[in-house]
Amino acid sequence: MTKDKRVYNFYPGPATLPLSVLEKARMELTNYRGTGMSVMEMSHRSAAVEELITSTEKLLLELLELPAHYRVLFLQGGASTQFYMVPLNFLPEGKSADYLVTGNFAEKAFKEAAKIGRVRAAADTKGDAYRSIPKLEDIKLDPEAAYLHLTSNNTVYGTQWREFPCCGDIPLICDASSDILSRRLDFTQFVLIYAGAQKNLGPAGTTVVVIREDLLEKVPQELPSMLRYDIHAAKNSLYNTPSIFAIYMVNLVLNWLKDEVGGLEEMEKINRRKAKLIYDEIDQSNGFYRGYAAADSRSLMNVTFRLPEEELEKKFVAAAEARGLVGLKGYRTVGGIRASIYNAMPIEGCDSLAEFMREFREENA
Ligand SMILES: *Cc1c(COP(=O)(O)O)cnc(C)c1O
Repeated sequence: MTKDKRVYNFYPGPATLPLSVLEKARMELTNYRGTGMSVMEMSHRSAAVEELITSTEKLLLELLELPAHYRVLFLQGGASTQFYMVPLNFLPEGKSADYLVTGNFAEKAFKEAAKIGRVRAAADTKGDAYRSIPKLEDIKLDPEAAYLHLTSNNTVYGTQWREFPCCGDIPLICDASSDILSRRLDFTQFVLIYAGAQKNLGPAGTTVVVIREDLLEKVPQELPSMLRYDIHAAKNSLYNTPSIFAIYMVNLVLNWLKDEVGGLEEMEKINRRKAKLIYDEIDQSNGFYRGYAAADSRSLMNVTFRLPEEELEKKFVAAAEARGLVGLKGYRTVGGIRASIYNAMPIEGCDSLAEFMREFREENA
């Protein structure tokens, strides 16, 4: 592998970005749209930055097909800050919140919220080592819950919700860090969606929060300002200095998704084809590759699987890397292999991986 060639990057996050986005950023790096300076050097009070934030918000709502009574905030502190910001804002004393505990980030969100208020696991799949998504009939909701929190895609274990619990009057809150904008859904079923940018939206440094406007009225006024969604909304994400370069990159990725890919429906088709290439290779390997996730819970974003022995897994990762297929080592609690194939992974990358898997099996089975 030559050092000047781009690899297929299967890292789980920060993750691969569309090449055309990186090239556009390079082109604009020293002079942002005729301003004579880099977007990184610009005052967050400038008209150009304000316009950038407003247009990025508008574009995201358009892609999600959300009406104008949703707002988009660009915050810092990663998705992990949302684990406690959500209950600080929306779990009042005397109420309890329901959580669907389906993976390590879902568990973290649950545990962080437990430090703030009363929470309850409405379903928990730890018993089967987070291999599956709970069946809707196995979820026991508290009808009085302040909200229901779930993780749409479980990045570490490679499982993903297909349909979401319809919970009557209980507001649904979603951590979509690892599958936001990967498929077309009715997003109005959620009152709040959050995602760290570094998997499907851009670089690390900004966290997108999509929130239904009426929720902003429920925010406790005594909370520290930086933790209040209503303040960030009122100030258009400019209450303090935001991570402008990261937001700029998100803007480029959203434009790529709209203009080059053609929107969420197209993106979903491509993502299904990409995932199928790898899952087919697993399923046709006579047990050489064993999928980690239960078949009905498989993720389109993170494909997890094991090989017959750990030694072979190490050999697999090294041999793949020598071919320019990098970042395939699984998370420590799962082991094995994880191929993260977010929106920006081209279908050719999945093709190459599938071909490599076939050859590796033929040589090592
Ligand atoms: C990566 C990830 C997180 C953590 O994001 P940070 O931005 O690092 O805090 C949370 N939830 C999910 C589902 C993730 O994939």
